[in-house]
Amino acid sequence: MSSAATTTSSTKMEDPTLDAVAQVTHKKLQGKVAIVTGGASGIGEATARKFALHGARAVVIADVQDDKGQNVAASIGGPDRSTYIHCDVTDEEQVKGLVESTVRIYGRLDIMFSNAGIGSASQQTVLDFDLASYDKLMAVNVRGMAACVKHAARAMVEGRVRGSIVCTASISASMGGSIFTDYTMSKHAVLGLVRSASVQLGAYGVRVNSVSPGPVATPLLCTLFKVEAEELEKMLESQMGFKAPVAGKMMSVESVADCVVFLASDEAEFVTGHNLVVDGGFKT
Ligand code: NAD
Repeated sequence: MSSAATTTSSTKMEDPTLDAVAQVTHKKLQGKVAIVTGGASGIGEATARKFALHGARAVVIADVQDDKGQNVAASIGGPDRSTYIHCDVTDEEQVKGLVESTVRIYGRLDIMFSNAGIGSASQQTVLDFDLASYDKLMAVNVRGMAACVKHAARAMVEGRVRGSIVCTASISASMGGSIFTDYTMSKHAVLGLVRSASVQLGAYGVRVNSVSPGPVATPLLCTLFKVEAEELEKMLESQMGFKAPVAGKMMSVESVADCVVFLASDEAEFVTGHNLVVDGGFKT
């Protein structure tokens, strides 16, 4: 799809998630309207589903993978409950359109999960830094993140909504990396954005936080290391000295999603400017 923020209504489908809805007794996001960028896959997809399980009134899936995004929206519910909107976060007009469409369709915006991101195109140290790849990565991971925070915050302030913005950073946001220099730089920048925005938006009742996952087997990480999901743990151990974190197993996307639900919810009413690391005690 080329047009900015083109809306595609979803159709209702049979889905086991609907049974699970009944099982979540304490719904943390009752009545909230949320956007999830990068919602077609991985951490974003899992979080969109958790938002719905926790009673979110509407979940807007924003991504550039149209088929996958439409399927996620359809499996969450009909157009009253979930919609897919094509949005390339590197294009500010599309981000603006995404937020405006959400407010037009669902009346308000309570939660922005700014999560879309890409990995480094190749392994590199500063000695062989590919600056063209750097520009592409920063356009998504930093510029795109800033555009999402900006337009979500505007909608919340204008709508007098005490909203919650959550950005996906990474454990790479808080440590130096031996490879993937551009990715590490981009995630450090996300923390700067979150901390600044949280200071600036506090007076409006808008909270801004980040979640920093350790390694999770998603298409992003598997593509980065050129391995299948099942081989990821072994590869991380042999190449990077990675030790299985708590519970002796790889973390799941659901574990990250649970933390995002908390930050998005009113339970975190006094949490802002915080970077919630969810890595199970990651050790290298
Ligand atoms: P993923 O590849 O499964 O999901 C990323 C999604 O972002 C995809 O659906 C992709 O289409 C979308 N996307 C990419 N560029 C986009 C753009 N320009 N506009 C809109 N959408 C775009 O990977 P994931 O691991 O779920 O990644 C989600 C976030 O988590 C990223 O910000 C990533 O940096 C971060 N993260 C991942 C890990 C990990 O181990 N997987 C660890 C720490 C942080």
